Amino acid sequence: MVILGLGTNLGDREQTLRQAVLELKALLSQVICSPVYESPALLPETAPKDWDMPFLNMAVRGESTFTPKALLAEIQALERKLGREKRGHWSPREIDIDILACDGVIINEPTLTVPHQALLKRDFALIPLADIVPEWVYPGRDGKMAHELATQMASQLKRTDLVIA
Ligand code: ADP
Ligand code: MG
Repeated sequence: MVILGLGTNLGDREQTLRQAVLELKALLSQVICSPVYESPALLPETAPKDWDMPFLNMAVRGESTFTPKALLAEIQALERKLGREKRGHWSPREIDIDILACDGVIINEPTLTVPHQALLKRDFALIPLADIVPEWVYPGRDGKMAHELATQMASQLKRTDLVIA
């Protein structure tokens, strides 16, 4: 099982998420989608004011026959297909697709960190993950399940009414 985190704060955000999920269904089997959340952009203080645009975020799980690296290449190609251009690190983006976790896999390489290095710090990643895999356990840690970690997290994440399945 792989769990992906999707985020978008540029263009038609809902349409982009719908398209991304449709495309992910061609890459993965048994796809299950989380609710969609809205969160403020994470920005350094020096960022231009017009980068401060809210994200829609969701998580998607599925079964994959790709290695984690091959899956990363596939989701990066999908980001480009959905119109993502290379801009600065914090700048708005049509779509960001990150690998949040893959089963019990731990990878620490320059191009790929799994679980995602910020998963436990970001409510917009952990909360939707916990919605669709509540019993997922962070590998190599204290055995707490995703739903426990998500409940403990201070968060004002807003759940939207959008349904993407
Ligand atoms: P970010 O997601 O940090 O805003 P990018 O989407 O541009 O930025 O990704 C930057 C790099 O992060 C990618 O080129 C990729 O090699 C690396 N990366 C490391 N771990 C992961 C992961 N778990 N999922 C996706 N990308 C990752
Ligand atoms: Mg990314």
